[in-house]
Amino acid sequence: MCIFCKIVKGEIPNKTILEDENFLAFEDINPQAKIHILIIPKTHVDNFDLIAPKLMGEMTAFIQKVASKVGVKNDGYRLVTNIGKNGAQEVNHIHFHLLGGEQLGSIL
Ligand code: 5GP
Ligand code: ZN
Repeated sequence: MCIFCKIVKGEIPNKTILEDENFLAFEDINPQAKIHILIIPKTHVDNFDLIAPKLMGEMTAFIQKVASKVGVKNDGYRLVTNIGKNGAQEVNHIHFHLLGGEQLGSIL
């Protein structure tokens, strides 16, 4: 079982920000910004390329709720999802990084 599935099952502890029946948002263990949250579906999907559009739509609404809860709506934030080898994805359970709480540098 992948490490994020273990987090969903409670076998690995996490600092939960928001949770509902289908999704979980928790603090990244190695934060790259003042706010760095990982957002995942509770069901295992390898990456963005494989997620069903319906589930992605529901996840979009959940991510927006997370942004509200952590107070980054006004000042803005960054969402990142890495896909596969060339995308440097390390954990093969789809996750969005929500980064914010400070001025981020341009990456593109
Ligand atoms: P990726 O490179 O796959 O997009 O990012 C994986 C992220 O998962 C990294 O930012 C890493 O810090 C985070 N991470 C890896 N293992 C754990 C863990 O056990 N708990 C938490 N909270 N984050 C983790
Ligand atoms: Zn998984």
